[in-house]
Amino acid sequence: MLLRTEGIVFKSFPLGEADLILTILSYDGGFLRAFAKSPRTTKSRFGGALEPLSHIRISLMGKEHSDLPRLTQADIIHSYQKLREQFDCFLRISELLEITMSLFGEKEHHEGLFQLLVDTLNYIEAEKESDSLRRFLFYKVRVLEKAGLSPRLQGCARCGISVGTFYFSEGSVICSKCKDTIADDNRTSGARLISMGAVNLYETIRTWSWDKLNRIMPNDKLIFELDSFLNLHIKYRIERGLKTRDFMYKTKTLATSSVNADKNEIV
Ligand SMILES: [Zn+2]
Repeated sequence: MLLRTEGIVFKSFPLGEADLILTILSYDGGFLRAFAKSPRTTKSRFGGALEPLSHIRISLMGKEHSDLPRLTQADIIHSYQKLREQFDCFLRISELLEITMSLFGEKEHHEGLFQLLVDTLNYIEAEKESDSLRRFLFYKVRVLEKAGLSPRLQGCARCGISVGTFYFSEGSVICSKCKDTIADDNRTSGARLISMGAVNLYETIRTWSWDKLNRIMPNDKLIFELDSFLNLHIKYRIERGLKTRDFMYKTKTLATSSVNADKNEIV
């Protein structure tokens, strides 16, 4: 069976002397894994097409429902080389890729996921580097929504009428009157106060179209507050820290304040 599609290369894993196992987010929003024979040799017909982030048109050969079809052709649609060459930017994009892979199972297909990533990469590539912070945040909010894991920041999940504290175990804000309904273990597993500014920014990102979002330039303080919160929410939902974030701590890519916000996990 021959399958032709397009996708974004998420990661590659070396196999033996010269082969690769690739993970690709395909056009229809599902992940696929493929085996590439000898792409690491200098005369490989794949050229640079299998670099992470490459948007490629591919042909795969394998038995129907094969777990590991063989890549027979890969042509670059867009390389995103500029993004790979900017170390900090590439690390932050790698974080987005890791979040995406953690939230979605390999066989699941999600409408619009591929387009969300391509749109985000295109914006980051076209804009000033300083503007990309908001794009990383936009992506996190939207990808959580696609995964059905959006935190609820407006209104208590029980009574709906009051604002309160966000409880990670509930995935929602719970007001002071209703907090006794949370099981003891969950109440102590983490909570966080979120400013109204961050809540409003979150709701804007969640509900506005991409075109309209181009018009907003949130200040760094709000971006930082919301981003730190979402990182903790994601960590709670996937039940582990992100390898890319650990790497950012080690390489000091993150500002000290970010490291502290992440470490101060649950307040
Ligand atoms: Zn309530």
